[in-house]
Amino acid sequence: MTAAQQSSAVATVRRTIPLGRSVQGRPITAVELGNPRANRRVLVVGCVHGNEPAGVPVADALAAGSAPASADLWVVRVLNPDGVATQTRGNARGVDLNRNFPARWRPDGAPGSVHYPGGRPLSEPESLYAADLIRRVRPTIGVWFHQETAVVDDSEGPKGVERRFARDVGLPPRKLTDHPGSATGWENTLVRGSAFVVELPGGRLSAQAVRRYADAVRRITGP
Ligand SMILES: [Zn+2]
Repeated sequence: MTAAQQSSAVATVRRTIPLGRSVQGRPITAVELGNPRANRRVLVVGCVHGNEPAGVPVADALAAGSAPASADLWVVRVLNPDGVATQTRGNARGVDLNRNFPARWRPDGAPGSVHYPGGRPLSEPESLYAADLIRRVRPTIGVWFHQETAVVDDSEGPKGVERRFARDVGLPPRKLTDHPGSATGWENTLVRGSAFVVELPGGRLSAQAVRRYADAVRRITGP
């Protein structure tokens, strides 16, 4: 490699960053890979609702894949490890983490009810870690995997990215309701038009489908 090539080569990173521990003490981590100085900062969250884990292998494939030179990619494979362990939507205290974020948060239902939003915004360690990470990184694009409506959110996120993603993975774009206290809704108040939901189909993704979704994210991080 010549000196000129060396100076033009982008120094990419790959590091695992502990964010904290869940209510029951399970570690929650982020993997940062790519170019930390890139203007394009992409956050991928594989699983928020514990009974919707199909995005986890997609997140794992991304974290194990090549580090993009033109983006700073952040991968949180599971934000709700206690919910995954018990295959329940909420965290160990029965809070729906996707109703626990500050944007338009409101009390709703009793503890343990399906969409219980917690006693106050960011009352749960899991949502607090995500909020801390989002405040620090300020992702220009956020992709949050859920199940099982099999659509790509076409509401508040980056329109062109949402629609290309939908085409790439073969899901229809659809306007989803932005629920009070949702993670993407809050992220979009910090960085307007940045975050969107991908509703995967039910069940597990095939290995081929995992590759297709990971490739669709890589197109977002590509040059
Ligand atoms: Zn969900």
